[in-house]
Amino acid sequence: MDQYFLFVILAPIAAIISIWTAVYAWHRRLVSGAWMLSLALLAITGWLFSSTLELTAATAQATILIAKLSYLFILSAPIFLLGFALEYTGKEKWISYPRFILFWIIPTITFFLVQTNDLHGLIWFNYSVVPVNQTLQVLRITAYGSWFWLQAAYNYSLIITGVVIISNQYIRANILYRKQMGWIILGAVSPLTFNLIYILRLIPTLKKDFSPLAFAFACLSLAIGIFRHRLLDIMPIARNTIIENMEEGMIVLDIEGRMIDINPVARRLLFPSDQEVTGIGASLIDYLPTATPSLAKDDQKNRGFEFAIEVNERKRLFEGKLSSLRDFQDKCIGYLLILQDITEQKKLYQEIERLASRDTLTDLNNRRHLFSLGEKEIDRAKRYKHPISLLIIDIDFFKEINDTYGHVIGDQILKRFSFFLQSTLRSVDIIGRYGGDEFIVILPQASLNTAHITAFRLCCTTDNNAYHTEAEEIHITLSIGLSSESNVTHNTNLHSLLERADRALYLAKSRGRNQVALEETQKNTQAQL
Ligand code: GH3
Ligand code: MG
Repeated sequence: MDQYFLFVILAPIAAIISIWTAVYAWHRRLVSGAWMLSLALLAITGWLFSSTLELTAATAQATILIAKLSYLFILSAPIFLLGFALEYTGKEKWISYPRFILFWIIPTITFFLVQTNDLHGLIWFNYSVVPVNQTLQVLRITAYGSWFWLQAAYNYSLIITGVVIISNQYIRANILYRKQMGWIILGAVSPLTFNLIYILRLIPTLKKDFSPLAFAFACLSLAIGIFRHRLLDIMPIARNTIIENMEEGMIVLDIEGRMIDINPVARRLLFPSDQEVTGIGASLIDYLPTATPSLAKDDQKNRGFEFAIEVNERKRLFEGKLSSLRDFQDKCIGYLLILQDITEQKKLYQEIERLASRDTLTDLNNRRHLFSLGEKEIDRAKRYKHPISLLIIDIDFFKEINDTYGHVIGDQILKRFSFFLQSTLRSVDIIGRYGGDEFIVILPQASLNTAHITAFRLCCTTDNNAYHTEAEEIHITLSIGLSSESNVTHNTNLHSLLERADRALYLAKSRGRNQVALEETQKNTQAQL
């Protein structure tokens, strides 16, 4: 088969592939470079079609006309390809208006000269249309005009600049992008080679310019580069800016758990003493044995775990999030580990938790937290069939203390009384401030008798000891209401225990204060007998 027939058969196939790739790239135009690539592909498709029509045209005039029009595509494809290289490597300011206009000056003049070639011969100096077989004819150029060479040099510079920009990026690129860029460079170099062979007549028997086919192949290769081997759907420049500057530690692991990319934060964590160490290629397990969850080969996503590392001799808490990286066939090709220092966050959370559960003045359990702890104790008592008792303690005539010594002294008394409760009672007892001068004590596993003795002891000790304050020695007494449940049933609840203790407290108050009272059916005890 002669080379012209071969071209006429291959060109439509290449054109279809180009259109398909252009549409594919267009749909993914948010990927850096995809938008320019789809424009380049459209120009190349036009070039392929016009080259085919040039061969199959019925008359010599038609062949010449189509050849002249095809310059529209020949001239724009290299500009779009350079645009692709600029956009892909983050130099998009070059392709924004008005700078991008500059790229079009020479091609615009060329296009005008091509259309008017017969007046000056600056493009094709000597040419003719010759039939190559019964059906096909070709525009044979035997001598090019001077502007043609200028234009050719310009086109080559555009493409070579693109190749240099991408190669430069390739050298500095992270290992993860090398494969991707390899495709891109191959894509950019191959059409240049083809075109040079044709223009310089390096293969004497090659009469037909196969450049458009080579360009179509090149763009396919570029598309493979940016879509198939993309890692994070971001251009390399953005990857560097984001990952190198992010506050979280980032480690990319291969399928074997070896580190293939580490950002500065993660490097500082893993190799605090030696910043020179890159860690690339080392196994994560050697450096973070406690932190490394099994890098399972299944497709679990976003596995989170917490671990501690000593940083500058201080223990810091980290949260690690591990997710698998997948290729376009959904095969696991590695892992992404994000490390975040959560020490402060954890402290803050604990502080918030503390504040939400404590009474601000006395630091005892606040009412809400007291109830939730109480419910749990009742559940435990139900399960293990333990007795449980509850005291409501109210300071007698506390208002008078405030009125006599002022609120500041009143607050001091409340604080010191709280401290007294904490130091006198068992650690298992739950102590809380009910409100004002009222306190609640839940006594787990305490029978009525034990609770009564405890309450009595609190009453007596308070009565027998005065508080030394800035003002003077202040003496207080307590009234305590006691409720107890020795046979805890499923009907027992905190609410009823509280109600019963409250009624008992009322009794203690009404009977003269400074005493412990139980419900009416049970015995009452005066502190000072
Ligand atoms: P009794 O219990 O013996 O019947 O008399 P009381 O004077 O203690 O009466 P009551 O329980 O009605 O008054 C409690 C007083 O406690 C009223 C209020 O002035 C005081 N009080 C409540 N909360 C605080 C507080 O946070 N700080 C101070 N200093 N006083 C408080
Ligand atoms: Mg009171």
